[in-house]
Amino acid sequence: MKLTIIGSSDAFGSGGRLQTCFHVAWSRGAFLIDCGATSLTGLFRQGFDPNDVSTIFVTHLHGDHFGGLVWWLIHAVHVSERRAPLTVVGPAGIEARFAAAAEALFPGSTQTERRFELRFRTWQDFQPLEEGGVTVTPFVVSHPSGATPYALRFEVDGRVLTFSGDTEWVETLVPAAQGADLFICECFAFACAARYHLNWRTIEANLPRLGAKHVLLTHLGPEALANRAAIAHPAVSIAEDGLVREI
Ligand SMILES: [Zn+2]
Ligand SMILES: [Zn+2]
Repeated sequence: MKLTIIGSSDAFGSGGRLQTCFHVAWSRGAFLIDCGATSLTGLFRQGFDPNDVSTIFVTHLHGDHFGGLVWWLIHAVHVSERRAPLTVVGPAGIEARFAAAAEALFPGSTQTERRFELRFRTWQDFQPLEEGGVTVTPFVVSHPSGATPYALRFEVDGRVLTFSGDTEWVETLVPAAQGADLFICECFAFACAARYHLNWRTIEANLPRLGAKHVLLTHLGPEALANRAAIAHPAVSIAEDGLVREI
């Protein structure tokens, strides 16, 4: 599979980066992991057509991870004239939270006639879910967002890609990342304690236990960005918007 980092920022766009969104192209199509508010902008920057994306997998219900669905909908209806079905998989409650956000920002947008099927599915804690040939296992993490937050472990074309989502340290990250070809891990802070987020020192201390072949840090906040030169490990790199990686 081919991973493209569409957005690698924290919730605040630190460092001028876009909010969380990863594009995965594989043998049978393309999907997104998270869809922050800036996702359409990022997809266009990288030359992707949103109509080619069949599924959007969402880790948790914070605006910088699912807010982009609001713009996605009005673009699909009014601009790209989408016809292909779109499946959104996320925490229980995602459909109602999406509708509330869409109606707050673009009143009437959920009632406009669509020429494509918009389907929602929800994670069951730790239960593998198959969608369009992709198997995803949702591991419960710790990050209050009005619904259960997850780290997601993807099995695609015989490879494993795990994303931590947003979370403080929890032991479920160990099985989620174990043996993964790539573990994308949030790293909001460098050494500071950031509530409900990870810092580099914690990740570094747990690298041997996580057991991933490579770790890609994302969601860096101001303190992590300021100290990025001190993040040095042969199996770790830092995500940038536009980064492409074959997995
Ligand atoms: Zn976030
Ligand atoms: Zn969050």
